[in-house]
This record gives sequence, structure tokens and C-alpha cells, in this order.
Amino acid sequence: MSSKYVIGIPPVISLAVAGDHGRFPVHRIYCVGRNYAAHAVEMGHDPDREPPFFFQKNPDNLLPGGGDFPYPDKTEDLHYELELVVALASGGRDIPVASALDCVFGYCVGLDMTRRDLQGQAKKMGRPWDVGKAFDHSAPCSEIVPVETIGHPHAGAVWLKVNGEDRQNGDLNQMIWKVPEIISYLSGLFTLAAGDLIYTGTPAGVGATVRGDTLRGGVTGVAEIEISVV
Ligand code: MN
Repeated sequence: MSSKYVIGIPPVISLAVAGDHGRFPVHRIYCVGRNYAAHAVEMGHDPDREPPFFFQKNPDNLLPGGGDFPYPDKTEDLHYELELVVALASGGRDIPVASALDCVFGYCVGLDMTRRDLQGQAKKMGRPWDVGKAFDHSAPCSEIVPVETIGHPHAGAVWLKVNGEDRQNGDLNQMIWKVPEIISYLSGLFTLAAGDLIYTGTPAGVGATVRGDTLRGGVTGVAEIEISVV
């Protein structure tokens, strides 16, 4: 008798939930590009309110809870980007801005680790960003704090220290596209679903990191994350 699937079923990728023994199963990971004006400027772009744009990482790129982060192959310019991450409990298509927050299960803090040299080559050649963005362990992510615990954060420091030194300092209130607008816009492009994560972009101060560094960052009022680059 044959089983239904011809190979083993891939594992369910999940994140811890603060104050709960259950876990949040991850469906997809969307990421917003250039969502803080000062970061857009530091990357050489106009900070005007252009429509948001998106790229994706894969659920198995997550490094749940942080910890040891293996320095990736094929890069000599690995960058950190500390971001607020939104976890969806429900989804849909063409979600109105006014009801978008009803889809949110909770919030967490993630690092959008980036092979900046490979991303730069891709940009120059008009190629996709995947090799720069969606590599193994490229998405360290904290536990998720449910909305019922913290509500919906609209302001709060977005910060990162490398070996104890300040590197990124922004505030959620500086986001060009706010969380409800991001969810609404994204749902016009993709049918969103329970389990989707959205990395909402990083403030200014991105930079390179090397083996031996300890990165600690957070969003005040949400969560913190720490990784050691090994
Ligand atoms: Mn990013």
C-alpha cells in the first residue's frame, strides 16, 4: 500500500509565542524594502513616499529565537537590518486599511540579514534579490508577542547594538508605510494567509558584521533578539 506523499512531509517551521506553550506555524515571509526615509537615503534612493515594494524570504531561512548565526558563504559584505515583524492570524485579498489590523496575531523582532555585495550585483544587473536576501539562517526572529498582550505598537525605538555599540536607532513612528497600509497593499498583490510574517523594513544605520560580533536589538515595547556571528 502506498502512502499519499512520495517523499517525507517537510517539517513545519514555527516561532515561539511569549507567555504561551503553543507555537506559531510560519507560512510565508514577506519583506518591505526601504520603509524608513533615512535608510532609503543612506542606500542612495529618494525618500519620497513611493509605493512600497516587497521581496520574500523562505520559512526555512528563519533562525527562531536568534543564537548562533553562521556567517554565510559567497559574501564579503554581510549586513544587518533590525526590523519589526508582523505575524498574521488571518489573511485575504484586497483587505481594507481600516480592518487590516484585525488580521494581526502579534509582533516580533527580526533581523533581515543581507549579503549586500550579492544584492548590489543583482540590482546592477536587474536580477532578483534572492541570493542576497533569502539564504540559510538569513531571518533570525524573536518570539512573537500576541496583540492581546501588547496591542498594536505605533511608536517605539527600533534599535541595534553591535558588540554593545549603537548602530541602528529609529522609531516605529518613522515608517513611511504603516502596518495597516502594508497589509492592505500586500493583499492586493498576494492572497495573504494565517502564518504569514511581514518584515516591515529597517531604519538607518545598516552596516557590515563579521564573525565574532554579537548583535543585540529590539523594538521597545515588543521584544528583543540577540545573535552571535560564528
Ligand atoms: Mn530589510
